Amino acid sequence: MKRSGTKKNIGIIGAGWSGLAAAIVLTQAGNKVTVYESAKIAGGRARRVETEHGVFDNGQHVLIGAYSETLRLMETVSPGSSSTGFLRVPLTLNYPDGVLLRAPRLPAPLHLAAALLLARGFSLAEKMAAINFIRGLQKVAFKTGFPDSVAEAIAGQPEKVRRFLWEPLCVAALNTPVRLASFKVFARVLRDSLTGSSSNSDFLIPMQDLTSLFPNPAMNWIQRHGGTIKMQHRISALKFENARWKTSWETDEALHDAIIIAASPTHAASLLGLLPVCQSLALQLDGINYQPIVTVYAEYPVTLPLRTPLTGWIDPVPLFIFDLNATLDRKGMVAAVASAEGPHLDWDNDRWLAEIHTRLEQVLGPLPAPKLIKRITEKRATFTCGPTIVRPPHTTPCKGLYLAGDYVDGPYPSTLEGAVRSGVQCAQLLIRHHESELPNPT
Ligand SMILES: Cc1cc2nc3c(=O)[nH]c(=O)nc-3n(C[C@H](O)[C@H](O)[C@H](O)COP(=O)(O)OP(=O)(O)OC[C@H]3O[C@@H](n4cnc5c(N)ncnc54)[C@H](O)[C@@H]3O)c2cc1C
Repeated sequence: MKRSGTKKNIGIIGAGWSGLAAAIVLTQAGNKVTVYESAKIAGGRARRVETEHGVFDNGQHVLIGAYSETLRLMETVSPGSSSTGFLRVPLTLNYPDGVLLRAPRLPAPLHLAAALLLARGFSLAEKMAAINFIRGLQKVAFKTGFPDSVAEAIAGQPEKVRRFLWEPLCVAALNTPVRLASFKVFARVLRDSLTGSSSNSDFLIPMQDLTSLFPNPAMNWIQRHGGTIKMQHRISALKFENARWKTSWETDEALHDAIIIAASPTHAASLLGLLPVCQSLALQLDGINYQPIVTVYAEYPVTLPLRTPLTGWIDPVPLFIFDLNATLDRKGMVAAVASAEGPHLDWDNDRWLAEIHTRLEQVLGPLPAPKLIKRITEKRATFTCGPTIVRPPHTTPCKGLYLAGDYVDGPYPSTLEGAVRSGVQCAQLLIRHHESELPNPT
C-alpha cells in the first residue's frame, strides 16, 4: 500500500486476528500504531492456552485454501509460513459411518466433480443431486427469492446428502445449525471454496499453536516497523478530547488520532456504551446472538494410526476428531470438536471420553483408556450466522472511531478470514477517510 504523507498515531484495541491485520495495513501505509491487548497471550479467540497439562489452542481451528487475505498477511509477516504453518489436505470428508469423499489433484471444478462421482457411500442419484446443487450455487448471488435458511435450501436434497454433506459443512463453515443458518452466506462460502482454484477447497490444519502461527509473528513485524504492542493493557474508557482520542487503562492513558476497536461485540459494546452518541450501536452489538464450540483434547498412551488427519461422525451430533500426532507431533493426542448448539453441551467429561473412545475404537479396534486433558467450551465462539442478522459497518457515529472484527459487515461468516478481511478493510477505510462531517461525541 502507498505510504500517505502524514503519519497518524492510531490506537487499536485488541490483538486478535482482526486487530493485528488492521495494524499491519496501517503500518504499511506509514502510520504509527499502538495495539492494546488485555490478555497475556495474543490471538483472541484463536490463541494458545497454557495449562498444567501443556499448551493447547483455545479451540481446534481449521482454515481453508480460500482464506486468501489470512495467507497473504501470514506471508507478509513471516515469509514461507503460509505453507510451512499448515498440513494441507485436499478436501476430504471421511465418515467411518458411511461416506468417504476425497478431492483428487485436478483443476477446479473437475476436482470436485471427481470427488463426488468417486465418493464412497453415495448412490449415483445422490451424487448427481449434490453436483446439481453446487451448480445452482452460482446463481444465488444474482438471484432474488432464494431460500433464507440453509434448511430450506437443502430440503429437496436426498437425506444422506443432507446429513453427510450439507449439514456438517454448514455447521463447520458458519458454526450455525442449518435451520438457523443464512443460505446466502453458506452459498458464498461454498462458492469461494468449491468453485475457485482447486486448492481453495484444501483444509489447512495448523502445525503450530495458533498464537505462534500468526499473532506472534505479526506483533514482531509491527514492532520491527515502529509500532508498539501493549500486552495486558485492558482499555477501560475512550474519550474524545481536543480533536484526539484518549485511551485509558488501569495505570495510565494515551492520545491517538483515531481508534479501531477490534474486540468481540460484547467488549466493543462496553466501550461504545460510554459514548453518548454510540448508545444505539452498543445496544445493537449487545443484541448479537452467539453459537458455542466445544473442543476436547484427549490423550492415549499409544499412537493412534488414523487414516486421515480429520475424521467425522454424524450422530448424535456432528463431531470431528483431529489427529494431533499428524499435525503437532503429539503422539496419542486427539482434539474432538463439536460446533454450534446441541445436546453435547450437557455432556460431562466422562460422557465426552466415552463418545471419543467409542468412535476411535470403531476405526482402530480395542484401545487402552484415554485420559481427558482439557475440555474448552467457548459459549460465544461465533455469532449466529442467520438470514436476518444486521452486521454493523466499520464506521461508528464518532469521527475517528472504527470497528473491526469477524462480526462487522462483510461477506464471510465468523471465521479467521472474516476477522482478517475486516481488519484489512477497516484499516483501508481509515486511511482513505479524510475530514468528514460526522458528529463528535458529546
Ligand atoms: C473454539 C473456536 C473454534 C473456532 N474454529 C474456527 C475455525 O476452525 N476456522 C475459522 O476460520 N474460525 C474459527 N473460529 C472463529 C475465529 O477464531 C474468530 O472468528 C476470530 O478469531 C475472531 O477474531 P477477532 O479479531 O474478530 O476477535 P477476537 O478473537 O475476539 O479478538 C479480540 C481481542 O480483543 C481483546 N480485547 C477485548 N476487549 C479489550 C479491551 N477493552 N482492551 C484491550 N483488549 C481487549 C481480547 O482479549 C481479544 O484478544 C473459532 C472460534 C472459536 C472460539
